[in-house]
Amino acid sequence: MPEIEVLAQGFGIGGPEARISLCSITLIRGEKTTLVDVGYQARRVLIVDRLAELGLKLEDIDRVVLTHGHWDHTLNATMFPNAEVMISETEYEYVQHPSPLDPATPLYLPDILKRAKKLTTVRDGDELESGVRIMSVPGHSPGSLAVLVQTPNGVAGMVGDSLANRNAAMAPVPSAGLVFFDEEAAEQSARKIIDTCTFVYPGHDRAFRKEGGSFHYMQPQSIVLGGLPRDEDGTIHAKLDETAPVFTVTVQPGARRKGQ
Ligand SMILES: [Zn+2]
Repeated sequence: MPEIEVLAQGFGIGGPEARISLCSITLIRGEKTTLVDVGYQARRVLIVDRLAELGLKLEDIDRVVLTHGHWDHTLNATMFPNAEVMISETEYEYVQHPSPLDPATPLYLPDILKRAKKLTTVRDGDELESGVRIMSVPGHSPGSLAVLVQTPNGVAGMVGDSLANRNAAMAPVPSAGLVFFDEEAAEQSARKIIDTCTFVYPGHDRAFRKEGGSFHYMQPQSIVLGGLPRDEDGTIHAKLDETAPVFTVTVQPGARRKGQ
């Protein structure tokens, strides 16, 4: 039976200046060794170190599945020399000609994907190996996908940003939160994930499990922030904005709004 291990925790924090987006990088060890999402360059050393802790080298990764084409999930796809890289057919078509308003899909992504040892496009329902399959969850991006793993206790979903965090699942109307493609589809996909998965590995949060109509984190928080700018006397002037909303839906320019 495939085993799931979070190689690097995802999170997203930010303020008026910018948003820091580090995606979850998840390892599935089954018939093949698979990574779901690979992050961007700033996490390369961490990936090498975490794999080494598990006795793995970059060469040992057989397969990389990209939940979608955004920069924060994809730019390390060339790190794994033996990996077959998989992306949804719809997303692959979209990244060839992304919307000029799209702030998250790099124009050079097709070039990165071309350098994979093997590039394969996948669709809803495709079975990668026994107990591991693809579910289409569009809305956050045109061809977002989730990787579903059948476990004895229910389905575990590596869902990317189609349900980016626990707050998205807890919202009165669950959604991707950040919508780059289609607001209504994003809501339908979030609902589909909640209905399908007992265990959710979201794109930018710790894994959580569904239990009795609520969602509970499966791991303790482990983010440490350091290197904050200091004053000459050493004082840190970072300010926590505790008034920021817990969850909002932001429809990006160019995306389809509900009712349009
Ligand atoms: Zn994204």
